[in-house]
Amino acid sequence: AKWVYSFGDGKAEGAADMRNLLGGKGANLAEMSNLGLPVPPGFTITTEVCTAYYENDHAYPDELVGQVDAALAEIGKLTGRTFGDPANPLLVSVRSGARTSMPGMMDTVLNLGLNDETVKALEAESGDARFAYDSYRRFIQMYSDVVLGVEHQSFEEILEIFKENNGYSLDTELSADDWKTIIERFKALVAEELDDPFPQDPKAQLWGAIGAVFGSWMNARAKTYRRLHDIPASWGTAVNVQAMVFGNMGDTSATGVAFTRDPGTGESALYGEFLVNAQGEDVVAGIRTPQNITEAARLKARSDKPSLETVMPAAFAEFSKICQALESHYRDMQDMEFTIERGKLWMLQTRSGKRTARAALKIAVDMANDGLITREEAVMRVGAGALDQLLHPTIDPAAKRDIVATGLPASPGAASGQLVFTSEEAVEAAAAERNVILARVETSPEDIHGMHAAQGILTTRGGMTSHAAVVARGMGKPCVSGVGSIRIDYRAGTLTVAGRTFNKGDIITIDGSTGQVLAGEVAMLKPELTGDFGTLMEWADGARRMEVRANAETPNDARTAREFGAEGIGLCRTEHMFFDEDRILAMREMILAETSEGRRTALAKLLPMQRQDFTELFEIMHGLPVTIRLLDPPLHEFLPHTDEEIADVANAMGVDAERLRRRAHTLSEFNPMLGHRGCRLLISYPEIAEMQARAIFEAAIAAGKSTGAPIEPEVMVPLVGIKAELDVVKARIDAVAQEVMEESGTTIVYQVGTMIELPRAALKADDIAQSAEFFSFGTNDLTQTTFGISRDDAGSFLGDYQQQSIIEQDPFVSLDQEGVGELVRIGAERGRKTRPGIKMGICGEHGGDPSSIGFCETVGLDYVSCSPYRVPIARLAAAQAAL
Ligand code: PEP
Ligand code: MG
Repeated sequence: AKWVYSFGDGKAEGAADMRNLLGGKGANLAEMSNLGLPVPPGFTITTEVCTAYYENDHAYPDELVGQVDAALAEIGKLTGRTFGDPANPLLVSVRSGARTSMPGMMDTVLNLGLNDETVKALEAESGDARFAYDSYRRFIQMYSDVVLGVEHQSFEEILEIFKENNGYSLDTELSADDWKTIIERFKALVAEELDDPFPQDPKAQLWGAIGAVFGSWMNARAKTYRRLHDIPASWGTAVNVQAMVFGNMGDTSATGVAFTRDPGTGESALYGEFLVNAQGEDVVAGIRTPQNITEAARLKARSDKPSLETVMPAAFAEFSKICQALESHYRDMQDMEFTIERGKLWMLQTRSGKRTARAALKIAVDMANDGLITREEAVMRVGAGALDQLLHPTIDPAAKRDIVATGLPASPGAASGQLVFTSEEAVEAAAAERNVILARVETSPEDIHGMHAAQGILTTRGGMTSHAAVVARGMGKPCVSGVGSIRIDYRAGTLTVAGRTFNKGDIITIDGSTGQVLAGEVAMLKPELTGDFGTLMEWADGARRMEVRANAETPNDARTAREFGAEGIGLCRTEHMFFDEDRILAMREMILAETSEGRRTALAKLLPMQRQDFTELFEIMHGLPVTIRLLDPPLHEFLPHTDEEIADVANAMGVDAERLRRRAHTLSEFNPMLGHRGCRLLISYPEIAEMQARAIFEAAIAAGKSTGAPIEPEVMVPLVGIKAELDVVKARIDAVAQEVMEESGTTIVYQVGTMIELPRAALKADDIAQSAEFFSFGTNDLTQTTFGISRDDAGSFLGDYQQQSIIEQDPFVSLDQEGVGELVRIGAERGRKTRPGIKMGICGEHGGDPSSIGFCETVGLDYVSCSPYRVPIARLAAAQAAL
């Protein structure tokens, strides 16, 4: 079998499409060689050798040694050298290279083949003893670290002590003789640690390095990385062995890294850094400040160090030509490594470059406009999740961060402001035009006004679907939730963390994209919804099948949703409408009422307000579909809790405080999320459903008249598990519809449907579909009830689960496709069996998560619904799922 693939001198046995066999690096080295680019000759040992090695108890295939020897001889022929020859030695680099680049793997050994003899040849050939011995000590250090397992730090210590004793501060001050001394000490260290001398035989060195690469495929870090990224162990890694070229052979040598476009902004201009007289590791190590590659970049950076363009114009000219060739060949922005040895340019690596969301967007649109890629490819090239970065203010990457704690990145964007601890303080501050961050242990519906007033929200408890997280995302406000290390003392008005105390009024910053909490004010970048953004969205809209709706209840949210391109409202949570000051009183009156009559009287006060809410919503949506969900949360959420609050409310309502307390007490539940809520509430108190239905239908008529666009409302019943539950509530809704039609002399076209958010509802979807005219999968509650994990308390332990790799992702963020997803699939199938073509969507938080959206496409849902700020993400993700 063939285990080794050679490349060099304008040809190669491999090619770019052989990435599975040769790894990413090896495939691209072969491809560059085939393109006639200057690549130091070398060979790739295939990933199949890695697999065979592990299948055969760490033994290599029989033919491997012979094939490696032949490939080494081939390099020798091309370079005029011989591996291990003391007079004219071939030196090589050894690198790992899996299909995708993988942290945790052995990276690189340079200068392999050097020993006490060959170093003399290197000295003679280069005419530079200092260079030769510096190269040798680097090799010992690198090889011992990555192959022999002697810590890098131990070598650094020897070097540091030597420098200190000799009054040196920089490595460059060491002479050749100094390096010789260091080499002896390095070798002594190795011999002492390993009870074996540093290997002098180049062949032994080479096989040691090859073994280290294969060995690193199974080290703990690599295994963890693979598990988290779903990379099968069977892929294996390749090993690349390549003739050394030296960027540290004096002032006509250099080494650097470059991108064909700016990876930060996407600007179409060569971007990169290099160092004169240096080896690859020096650029990354950050000890010397690298220089710009182009003159334009140097001017922009106001650097006084000359660019490659001026110091080595010929090599620069060749390099920029190669960059263009590589980019048009690969049809993507490239990230490259190169070395210049005594004026001669060599390419060491090329691959598709990592980039920010902003750059990804610009590059994709530019390339499609230039005809380099198709519009569909452009749509596929921008990570939908990363779009978030573009829709919110972000912390300036150049700004200093004083991080005091880290929690969950619950709602993206960053904000600075004075610390406040109550919603009232937040509202006062907003009235005085002060920016504030509202810090709470957790938030409840009563904090909505405070959250509206604040620039950002910070909680010490609660997960990604806690109240604070969901509401903040809906509002498009940054939120960091579940920062367990922070203690909030409401009484003292302080926030303490890691020995630091912040008082009310102190300025802090939160970064909802990373979960960081920072001291003081930090510089921000504004979101830039440039032309490219609109262009890509247009292309995405042309490619997707699913509709995208928004979860919205306020006029503001609805308008934002439309601006971001929502095609309707998939979930209007009506409970959020009852917390405003004028409504909460009537709501509480209703809850306190002991008879149906009493409740009706209170509800009658709410009716005009609800009607007004819906009319406005319908008007803004202008004929687009709107799904309105009837009241869902348990009633006690609307009642005061502390003695103080109870006294205040009783006073305001003119009722006895004791009566109020008793009612609150009766309503309190051990497990409210599984308690008297959703349709259960509507069954006990049908007056509520009737009032809401009337408000919806009357609003539909009013908005239909005012806009001229007929409204067909979708009325949704929450938390149904049994068909009969839906039937009872639906009968009330239908009766009200009938009444309103008779009263108004108008026909109303409407649908009654249900949330599918309980396992039983998914399993009995065929029954339920007999009554339900549409389904909306409520995957927040469905996740909660399928896992039996409280969405409000999950934050305290899901972190441990993720750390111990029990789960990969928070199931409240990214749909658990195997478990909860199975129920969604079952629900969809059984629903369709009864009612073919039944309209189905998703309105849990997952409706804005790209991978969950991909899942929805496979189930054939008609739409996804998400918070307004995620609408663009959902549009792009839906397009990618369809392509
Ligand atoms: C759900 O449960 O998925 C849902 C959308 O409803 P809520 O989050 O309001 O419970
Ligand atoms: Mg729900």
